[in-house]
Amino acid sequence: MEKLDQTIEWLKQAEQAFAPDLVFACSFGAEDVVLFDLIAGHAPLIRIVTLDTGRLPQQTYDLMDACREKYDMHIEVYFPDASDVEEMVREKGLNLFYHSLENRKLCCEIRKVRPLKRALKGAKAWVTGLRREQAASRTEMQPIEDDPAFGIRKFNPLIEWSEKDVWNYIRSNEVPYNKLHDQFYPSIGCAPCTRSVAVGEDPRSGRWWWENEDVVPECGLHANPTSKLSGDQK
Ligand code: SF4
Repeated sequence: MEKLDQTIEWLKQAEQAFAPDLVFACSFGAEDVVLFDLIAGHAPLIRIVTLDTGRLPQQTYDLMDACREKYDMHIEVYFPDASDVEEMVREKGLNLFYHSLENRKLCCEIRKVRPLKRALKGAKAWVTGLRREQAASRTEMQPIEDDPAFGIRKFNPLIEWSEKDVWNYIRSNEVPYNKLHDQFYPSIGCAPCTRSVAVGEDPRSGRWWWENEDVVPECGLHANPTSKLSGDQK
C-alpha cells in the first residue's frame, strides 16, 4: 500500500527533524489508533499525549488501557485545570454545553483547548490523524504545514487515507479500537456530546447535534485561519 509507505515516511521524517519536541495528540479515534500503532512500530520517539476532559465515555478509557498494555509506549494524559472547571460548573452547571453555543465553546476551551496548549508547550511540531475527505473544509490541508494557532509545524500523515483504508489497517493489524464504533458511533468525543448516527446520516451529526445545522461544529483544536480545519475527533 503506497499510502501506508508514505505515511511511515512522513512519521520518520517528523521524528528525525523534531523529536523529542514532537507530540502526537491522540484522541483514540479510529485514525488515531492507526497512528498509535504506526508510531509505536516506526517512530517511537514521538511523544504520545491525550486529553482527559473528565467527560469521556468508559469505552475510551478502556481503549487507553488496552493500548497501554499492547504497546511499549508511554501515554501522557493531560487534564483540565481543576479551578477552571470548578468555576465554570459553579457558574453554569455541569451540562452547560446544551444551553448555548457560547457555553459549549467555553466548556471545550476549558476541558480541551487549554490542556492541549499545555500539552504542546515547548513542542516544535505535532502530529494529527486528520484526513482530507473528512470534511469539505479540509480540502486545502497539506501533509506538512504551519499551524499558526500554535506557532509550530503540523504533520497530517493520514491526509490521503479513506475511511476504508483506516478500517482495513485496524482489522488486518489487530489494532485496539473504541468499541463504541461497533455501535454506530463514527466520531467519539465526550460522552454527553457524542451519539450514534443512522445509516446514510452525516457522520458529523454524531457530535453537538443540537446546535444550529448552519454552524460547522468545532471545538477549537483544529480551527485556524490557514488550514480552515474544524472539528476534533480527538
Ligand atoms: S465536547 Fe462537550 S463535554 Fe467535551 S469539552 Fe466540549 S462541550 Fe465539554
